[in-house]
Amino acid sequence: MKTETRVVVIGGGVVGCSVLYHLARAGWTDIMLIERSELTSGSSWHAAGGFHTLNGDPNVAKLQAYTVGLYKELEEVSGQSCGLHLTGGFMVADSPERMDFLRYTHAKGRALGMDTELVSAAEAKAMFPMLDDSHFVGALWDPVEGHLDPSGTTHAYAKAARSLGAEIVLRNPVKEITQDPDGTWNVITEQGAVRCDHVVNAGGLWAREVGRMVGLELPLLAMEHMYLLTEDMPEVIAYNQETGREVCHIIDFKGEIYTRQERNGLLVGTYEKACKPWSPVNTPWDFGHELLEPDLERIIPSLEVGFRHFPALENAGIKQIINGPFTFAPDGNPLVGPVQGLTNFWSACAVMAGFSQGGGVGLALANWMTEGDPGFDIWGMDVARYGEWTTLKYTNAKVRENYSRRFSIRFPNEELPAARPHQTTPLYDIMTRENHAVMGDTWGLEVPLWFAPSAEAAHDVLSFHRSNDFEHVGNEVRAVRDSIGITEIANFAKYEVTGQGAEAFLSRLMTNTMPKTGRIVLTPMLNENGKLIGDFTIAKAAEDRFMIWGSSGAQIYHMRWFEQHLPKDGSVRIERFGQRMVGLSIAGPNARKVFEKLVTEDVSRTTFRFMDYREMDVASCPCRVNRITYTGDLGYEIWMEPCYERTVYLALKEAGAKFGIRDFGMRALLSMRLEKNFPTWGHELRPIYGPFEGSMDRFVKLEKNDFIGREAAAREYAEGPHLRRVSFLIDAATADVMADEPIWAKVGDTDHGTITPTHTSGVKRYVNGTVAPSTDKQRDGDWRVVGWVTSGGYAHGVQASMAQGYIPAQLAGEGADGLFEIEILGKRHPARIAIDPPFDPNGERMRG
Ligand SMILES: Cc1cc2nc3c(=O)[nH]c(=O)nc-3n(C[C@H](O)[C@H](O)[C@H](O)COP(=O)(O)OP(=O)(O)OC[C@H]3O[C@@H](n4cnc5c(N)ncnc54)[C@H](O)[C@@H]3O)c2cc1C
Repeated sequence: MKTETRVVVIGGGVVGCSVLYHLARAGWTDIMLIERSELTSGSSWHAAGGFHTLNGDPNVAKLQAYTVGLYKELEEVSGQSCGLHLTGGFMVADSPERMDFLRYTHAKGRALGMDTELVSAAEAKAMFPMLDDSHFVGALWDPVEGHLDPSGTTHAYAKAARSLGAEIVLRNPVKEITQDPDGTWNVITEQGAVRCDHVVNAGGLWAREVGRMVGLELPLLAMEHMYLLTEDMPEVIAYNQETGREVCHIIDFKGEIYTRQERNGLLVGTYEKACKPWSPVNTPWDFGHELLEPDLERIIPSLEVGFRHFPALENAGIKQIINGPFTFAPDGNPLVGPVQGLTNFWSACAVMAGFSQGGGVGLALANWMTEGDPGFDIWGMDVARYGEWTTLKYTNAKVRENYSRRFSIRFPNEELPAARPHQTTPLYDIMTRENHAVMGDTWGLEVPLWFAPSAEAAHDVLSFHRSNDFEHVGNEVRAVRDSIGITEIANFAKYEVTGQGAEAFLSRLMTNTMPKTGRIVLTPMLNENGKLIGDFTIAKAAEDRFMIWGSSGAQIYHMRWFEQHLPKDGSVRIERFGQRMVGLSIAGPNARKVFEKLVTEDVSRTTFRFMDYREMDVASCPCRVNRITYTGDLGYEIWMEPCYERTVYLALKEAGAKFGIRDFGMRALLSMRLEKNFPTWGHELRPIYGPFEGSMDRFVKLEKNDFIGREAAAREYAEGPHLRRVSFLIDAATADVMADEPIWAKVGDTDHGTITPTHTSGVKRYVNGTVAPSTDKQRDGDWRVVGWVTSGGYAHGVQASMAQGYIPAQLAGEGADGLFEIEILGKRHPARIAIDPPFDPNGERMRG
């Protein structure tokens, strides 16, 4: 074993081996993988080996498609078979709601260029004769599904990596990890110490323990998972003989069951409601190639549904029951990337579908390590999407919830209840008990979504269509537009940057010119490739002090970036406030009249102007105030320590009473930003788009000082963006867009270039063994899918269904009727581009 190397990958499961292979393929060959026991000694050896491309996040779906496409290459490079069976598969829906979900999934797939197809239950039965179609409404067919040999695949990655020069050391547990002051890591193993520049935690079942070696508590938990193998089934054999085909995969939502052929019988797995964590606090180091005791009782409710839905199963003998543990993050997606606060310590864990995702995880991580950027939008699996609030107990509750809902549909207005409330502000009791708020969870914090007229009415009726909140959210918006509303904005991210070098530091990071003292700017932040990695409001509080507000969910992601770029001389400090600072916003034409009652200073239109920042007492409480709001109306954001929030809130309510001040929630706020064409981080603005594609032109000052990403942004500007973010007004009567729906245009055969939501190189789509270009699902006569929706909903102020999305730039100027349609729940609706914001197009209201 060598004692010095560039990278040590800890863990020889499918994920560690994939990372090793991708690093070697990228040209980093002085690397080693250290495995405690033999390869596949964690979850990988007893996996059911299923793979598929569908994922709720289209960017993760794209990486899954890459993984599936990789297996042929892997077999060629390694000479080792992965045992691929590309059978295709169905998701079957037993209710109209589940069918809506399939329609939505299908529409999303269309935008991605996937070949999915909606079929009747009878058509599904023709391909899977053991199905009793009388229980089902319909199904979704995905040709890119199948299964493989988990052990063969893991060894194929390992062999391919070795053939490129990587070293693999087996039977050698890593015991301890330390770091020298110069950043060099020391990986202490049973066979001795290895010095290296980078450590990758691919410890799978032990990833939590490996994290603890460097003081990290990673939000992941292993769950027991069971699948059973039947004896030979005559129905399976007959199908094989009659058609010459293997039985395909099925996911049955109602039974929480997946099934596929295994030899001459079926493999049936469940994500049962009565799920069970395994080793919730510490994973035993002596756990090896072992299985857990099966517990049929837990999965009986699912099996009973299975017997009804697939009657042949009832008569099939059970040959074996496999019960094994594997790990999940709270949302079920992997934890990948550099860990904030540690240099060159990388996470590649919580990969719950290693055979669908392992390749994509390996590729993204290798890109990140070798080139400084994952090369894709991997936000959905970035380890930085979690923060200090994901404690052991929180993770336990959320992982159990996620596991038991693995095959449940999530409605667009559905908030998940586990581990809540977790973080609350001082207004929580007032909001819930007195104001009848329906609360949502943002980054672990309770946030008012909307306000019901009574306690009994304070809940969401789950639906893919407009629901019971529609009228009330509308009233909240109208209150703001007509007079004044108040909302809590504690969930925004807040930072303070101080020190002599603060302005130079921010000028280097941000695309906009920094403001003068007492003023505010809005500014995107780019990575080296000129892609959007942030969008902030920045106020200059004093010569060497700036306040920054951004997206709550991206706090760790942004802190990681800020810290990476802080000058080494200590001339700049950055503080993230988290919930040590909370905020309230008032907005509407009467907002100033209310605000001025609570302050002693002159806050008239010309003294406290639009985009001004001031520190002043509001209701006798020390506050920081922005003369700006996300509603696009005259208004204020008032920031304070939590101990003052109740006082300020009650004072604002009292002062606003005569104007009929009304509480409004996050849904009304998002509705109002829609009619102003304002983008949101994480939806419209993501690291796959350039600033001009994102229509952020006026916040990018190419001529100012050099800033990160400037060269690439200048290139994008000179060449003209390929895509453009636009807003649409849609003729939709009962349901609005959610996200990722396809945008159609009547463009005939005009070539608008290849578009997919992850329009990056290196990811190829794989269908039936070939790389497919675009699919015939993306065309219909003269109509073509030309783009995708990023978010939308109902804009109550202008009473219109709206969406934002990306389309080819050459179409973005068109506002003509009859050119665009947007697909909502399987039905296409006429849509028109709103070049100017439908509400207050000249911004007179917010300048107020
Ligand atoms: C019953 C069951 C069915 C499944 N079915 C599927 C399926 O159909 N499709 C699918 O995609 N996925 C499936 N999975 C999940 C799949 O197994 C995991 O996603 C995958 O194995 C995760 O791989 P990994 O490399 O992250 O972790 P692991 O396989 O757990 O590998 C981690 C490795 O790290 C090593 N290690 C840990 N700590 C140290 C240390 N300190 N020093 C040295 N080495 C260390 C371990 O020994 C282990 O070999 C299933 C899992 C189970 C249990």
